[in-house]
Amino acid sequence: FLGRAVPIKDENGEVIQWIGTCTDIDEFKQFQQQKDNFLGIASHELKTPLTSLKLYSQFLEKNLRKQEDHKNAMVALKMDDQINKLNNLINDLLDVTKIQNGKILLNHSEFDFDALVHEVVAEQQMSTKQKIDLETENIGIVSGDRNRISQVMSNLINNAIKYSPESDKILITTKLKENKTVLFSVKDYGIGIPENKKDKVFEQYYRVSGSKEHTFPGLGLGLYISSEIIKRSGGKIFVNSVEGKGSDFCFEIPKIYNLL
Ligand code: ADP
Repeated sequence: FLGRAVPIKDENGEVIQWIGTCTDIDEFKQFQQQKDNFLGIASHELKTPLTSLKLYSQFLEKNLRKQEDHKNAMVALKMDDQINKLNNLINDLLDVTKIQNGKILLNHSEFDFDALVHEVVAEQQMSTKQKIDLETENIGIVSGDRNRISQVMSNLINNAIKYSPESDKILITTKLKENKTVLFSVKDYGIGIPENKKDKVFEQYYRVSGSKEHTFPGLGLGLYISSEIIKRSGGKIFVNSVEGKGSDFCFEIPKIYNLL
């Protein structure tokens, strides 16, 4: 049950009565649980045919290239690109159900942070005409979940590209603070975020509404998942932004994650 109570005061401000409500939230919780279960099962079922589809499109592209049919090979490549996008959306839905069921577990290991940054940037650079500039410090070995940290980096860079369609560059900065905290920042010169929405963007399914909203596809999950990953890595994620000027999304994680 969820209880709520409101005081009723007289003209002197003295409480003369309390009015309370008591709501049965059992049904609501059950509904949430069913919704989460459905999302989990549906996403899982969607993944199997998609994996086959990806193999077919890659096979097709390779064969068309061999036959020097470059025009159709390009079509197959575009197909593959769309399949990747769909795959990412499904992975996000799966991650959300994992988070809700407390099943998102990080695999901590030691990895070369600088190499990861270069790897992620090189991959993202292939999908955009915007120039991704790097201002990096030598960070070295970090302990954390390499795949999940890579997912957060890709997510932030992807958003920076998506929400700055009229800009031609993005700036990635890394810093090592007092030899123990790693800072990763992605700065864009795009649409920015209104002051009162800055904290909300990390909430599940939250998307800033605005006239241009329909031009930016998405589910509003990437930042929620990213913030959960960073929290579980013992770090924090935040944004500095000016509406109409651009955003600077950052995360900080401990260089050495303390398992105790
Ligand atoms: P999605 O991009 O799929 O909507 P996210 O969780 O990644 O989901 O982002 C949530 C919302 O935060 C976005 O819908 C957008 O309104 C806002 N946002 C995220 N990144 C940026 C950015 N770099 N610039 C401006 N707005 C952003």
